[in-house]
Amino acid sequence: MTHIDTDALVALALGEPTDAPQRHHLAGCVVCADHLAALVRVVEAAGSSSPADIPQPPPGRLWQAVEEAVRRDDASGARPDRE
Ligand SMILES: [Zn+2]
Repeated sequence: MTHIDTDALVALALGEPTDAPQRHHLAGCVVCADHLAALVRVVEAAGSSSPADIPQPPPGRLWQAVEEAVRRDDASGARPDRE
């Protein structure tokens, strides 16, 4: 069985109409139906996100504190336990 290629599934998830062979295949193929369902969930999640959902970099003082802690560990010769 030849599955529907990912590009076509993405187009369907984005709302492109299905043609008869695709509908027939999706009705009988759990693999493609599951793949399409997952892609639809991604499209829905992306559509419901807002600018507030975009990850922001940590404040500069946090990175500075990490660098200082690493320098202190290097100066003291401390090394993490390795197993
Ligand atoms: Zn398939």
